[in-house]
Amino acid sequence: MTSLLSTTIAGSLPKPRWLSTSDQIWADWLAEGELLDEARRDAVRLAVADQQAAGLDVITDGEQTRQHFVTTFIEGLDGVDSDNRADVTIRQRYEASVPRVVGPVSRSRGVYVEDAKFLRSLTDQPIKYQLPGPMTMSDTLADDFYGDREQLAMVFAEVLNEEAKELEIAGVDLIQFDEPAFNVFLDDVAGWGIEALERAAEGLSVTTAVHICYGYGIKANIEWKRSLGDEWRQYEATFPVLAESSIDQISIEVANSNVPLELLEMLGDKDVLAGVIDVATDTVETPEQVAETIRAVLEHVVAEKVYPCTNCGMVPLSRPVAQAKMTALADGAAIVRGEIEEVV
Ligand code: ZN
Repeated sequence: MTSLLSTTIAGSLPKPRWLSTSDQIWADWLAEGELLDEARRDAVRLAVADQQAAGLDVITDGEQTRQHFVTTFIEGLDGVDSDNRADVTIRQRYEASVPRVVGPVSRSRGVYVEDAKFLRSLTDQPIKYQLPGPMTMSDTLADDFYGDREQLAMVFAEVLNEEAKELEIAGVDLIQFDEPAFNVFLDDVAGWGIEALERAAEGLSVTTAVHICYGYGIKANIEWKRSLGDEWRQYEATFPVLAESSIDQISIEVANSNVPLELLEMLGDKDVLAGVIDVATDTVETPEQVAETIRAVLEHVVAEKVYPCTNCGMVPLSRPVAQAKMTALADGAAIVRGEIEEVV
């Protein structure tokens, strides 16, 4: 990566109001057909420009082309019925309208490959692409065919690996798998979740990351966090497994969380995408607050392995708030970078 304390966002940004009803984690497209394709690409251009204006180092497409971070990928696969959706409880927390798996799952075409090529054409900066993780995918659908979550996750791992390899060829520098389910099904992470994740990332030469968070700032997640007590120790179960894994970077939540930061030491030599921006509040951090959170992380992880990031996606926020938070992220990292360079 480019410099010490390189910054990036977890992935998503709010969508412009002319593209989708705002503030929703499931986009309600306001255009269709060719007009929608053009609108989504215009939104990607803006997302890139906004990250660059903030001064971020690694750029994403803000997930402007997808309706949802998990279901859009699933809907791009064969063996899936997207029209006759089901209402299920996901992450043991909230109801969602999800696609059904109705037959053998396979991938006959790239899902995000063309989008990634477009993102690549917009910037020479390093770019990151997010894919859902296999465990989170198998928790975000109705399975009318396999009847076994582990088996389904391994099938998803295969198709994710095909997609990831094509994203790599498209010029993506970093591929991140989003696995919020790792914070919920703790026993399954060691049981089969990590195996599925490693299969998804197998054979990639780009940097790989896994994002494990406490979710967007939506009501069900905020209530869940309140129920977790004074110390959130979910990472304690997964970090040792991740430390032994082939994944390069671990994206986690720090800002305003009750995660005991000494848990970070369990990650061994992994890079840490440290969430120093709270996405569950409209209150914008000051650069000094961001710097303070980064300094707290640096007590447990060496600076060369710290990448300041957001706690999670910012899709539910307003665009001005997301923009201000990205600027605070870049400015806060610059403060700490300056302090380190002074010492050196
Ligand atoms: Zn997240």
